[in-house]
Amino acid sequence: AKERRDGQPAVYDPSLHRDLLERAALESDLRRALAENELQVHYQPTIVLESGEMVGVEALVRWQHPERGMVRPDLFIPLAEQTGMIHEVGLLVLREACLQGQRWAAMSPENALTVAVNVSGKQLQRTDFAEEVQDVLRESGFPAHRLVLEMTESVLVNDTEITLRTLRALRETGVRIAIDDFGTGYSSLSYLHHFPVDILKIDRSFVQRLSDPQAQNGLVESIVQIGRSLNLETIAEGIEDPQQISTLRGLGCELAQGYHFGRPGPAETVSRLVAAAADV
Ligand code: C2E
Ligand code: CA
Ligand code: CA
Ligand code: CA
Repeated sequence: AKERRDGQPAVYDPSLHRDLLERAALESDLRRALAENELQVHYQPTIVLESGEMVGVEALVRWQHPERGMVRPDLFIPLAEQTGMIHEVGLLVLREACLQGQRWAAMSPENALTVAVNVSGKQLQRTDFAEEVQDVLRESGFPAHRLVLEMTESVLVNDTEITLRTLRALRETGVRIAIDDFGTGYSSLSYLHHFPVDILKIDRSFVQRLSDPQAQNGLVESIVQIGRSLNLETIAEGIEDPQQISTLRGLGCELAQGYHFGRPGPAETVSRLVAAAADV
């Protein structure tokens, strides 16, 4: 390798170059995807553990790329955040999810579903985010109290004046706020006191460990207790087997999501469930 003047080897990493090219390609692709409607919204049911009843859905964005196939959100959401496209992507998902939520409500007004939408910290930095949400609610007719916005702890821990103001404004209109991947990020829970939080989503990594009969359930148990003492709903994510269900029931967790109950799928899949439930 060549030497730099300070004696350190000059690093030319061809894979880094490739990564940059790949990233640039993906970025222009994502711009096109937005223009050409390649982004879709899939929905995963939220279930009452006691009864098995579906009471809500989480909206999860999907990118149906013409050549690459389905691009996972883990790959393009970070890119969208870095490039600022997250505002457009987020708004698209929110709008679509609220319109769809309203269609389901029309099919089955007695047991209308809640709709949860993931929100990136970048979106909450915008001073007009709360207004944007209110516009979408107005245009779609979807009631605020059935919309849940999910955000990770990091968003609240690195709090800013704007985030706090935005969350308060949203809360005032009736929108509920969920902490996603709860328990993974931070040891301090003090933010739970000054942010208007309604729901804790127990991260999949904790739920996974519940299928091991030797496992200690202490962590999940404490999260459920924190939820109860602060009067918050708890949702367990990533349920894949019946052992996890019985353990979670025993611990007093009310709600769940996971492949065991239903994978994320197109709106039609949920529509069939809604129609079937309305028939009985
Ligand atoms: P998340 O919000 O924690 O969403 C849950 C993820 O776990 C989803 O992955 C879902 O498909 C997956 N999952 C659900 N049940 C199970 C299970 O039983 N087992 C396993 N192994 N996985 C399960 P997905 O759809 O690939 O989304 C990944 C992440 O991308 C999401 O994690 C979220 O952070 C982000 N994301 C997705 N849609 C949006 C969006 O519209 N906006 C933003 N900002 N982020 C999004
Ligand atoms: Ca989520
Ligand atoms: Ca999660
Ligand atoms: Ca996650």
